[in-house]
Amino acid sequence: METHPVRNTYLPYACQTIDDEDIEAVVKVLKSNFLTTGPVIKEFEKKIADYVDAKYAVAFSSGTAALHGACFAAGIGPGDEVITSPMTFAASANCILYQKGKAVFADIDDRTYNISPKKIEQMITDKTRAIIAVDFTGQPANLAEIMYIAQKYNLVVIEDSAHALGASYKKHKVGSISDMTMFSFHPVKHITTGEGGMITTNSEDYYQKLLLFRSHGITRDPSLLIDNNGPWYYEMQYLGHNFRMTDIQAALGISQLQKLDDFLKIRKNLVSQYNNAFKDMETVQIPFQEKDRESSWHLYILRLNSNKLSGKRRKIVEALLEQNIGVNVHYIPVYLHPYYQKLGYDKGLCPIAEKLYEEIITLPLFPGMKEKDVMDVITAVKKVIKSFLV
Ligand SMILES: *Cc1c(COP(=O)(O)O)cnc(C)c1O
Repeated sequence: METHPVRNTYLPYACQTIDDEDIEAVVKVLKSNFLTTGPVIKEFEKKIADYVDAKYAVAFSSGTAALHGACFAAGIGPGDEVITSPMTFAASANCILYQKGKAVFADIDDRTYNISPKKIEQMITDKTRAIIAVDFTGQPANLAEIMYIAQKYNLVVIEDSAHALGASYKKHKVGSISDMTMFSFHPVKHITTGEGGMITTNSEDYYQKLLLFRSHGITRDPSLLIDNNGPWYYEMQYLGHNFRMTDIQAALGISQLQKLDDFLKIRKNLVSQYNNAFKDMETVQIPFQEKDRESSWHLYILRLNSNKLSGKRRKIVEALLEQNIGVNVHYIPVYLHPYYQKLGYDKGLCPIAEKLYEEIITLPLFPGMKEKDVMDVITAVKKVIKSFLV
């Protein structure tokens, strides 16, 4: 393409927003007595639980560790099958493998890109134990139907809401609808703790198991001890991990949470600018939104669904990168990764997800984007796509 890009500086697809308040909150913990598993973790957990209207919340060192904990709490073990979406980050399925279960992929809905309840039901066998639903891009999955299927077949529903903090389903915030809901605080997500994750649940039983799993499977709680040999005594009752979040991180999380609703508003506003710019273009499809859900807009995905652009996605991504627009692709269907291919998953397993993967690009979307950044993205996308139509 030509030598002058739309922008001189690179615009990433996502970026955290950190202000002086956040920094002060972290410094305050550094000057305190507890750096980890102190009072600030509890406070962060309470604030997230309150925000999503759940009874319990357990902080983890990452969203991935949190998902692993949820699979443990759900009792996933060798031979158990867990159904999940192929259109997600690998962590949504890896957590099943950590527990020696089998990941089963059910294809997605072609409009919302979320896992299809009908396909879930087709994949159920007598070994199925759980469903991991992903709220893809921030739009909640079809939770009512998924919960209905889960009840019918006695399955646990774990919701991967890494994209969906603040999203709602039929006016209820995600986090208290499924059995366990996972949030991630990686810097590209809505709020950050550097690395970090959380499970919210209304079940006391899951809550206790998650606490144990996070810290070596060790308990000191007198009501849970099998024996009691004295004040020093504790018991390792399960094979757990050190998946604890630090108080330093939790302080950042609390400070960030105060800004979440503002961040969500900005994301929504950016999305409506994108939608207005692209909705009348014949060659692209803007994101579809179900009426009964409110997306938290983690990702803005544009689908290049015209025959005229077929097979050109890679070149379009490269051209946009040359324009200094940090586009990305979310996601490579999980089972197409070499590791999963070696496990024996066939290409063609989920045709809708595979076709979608060939046609999507993720545009920059984060609260720190300026008016000019949005205009640059729109200008560059229109310019690049036009250049591929001639
Ligand atoms: C980010 C993400 C995760 C993992 O979260 P980490 O905090 O990075 O471990 C899991 N699932 C999805 C869909 C994600 O986007």
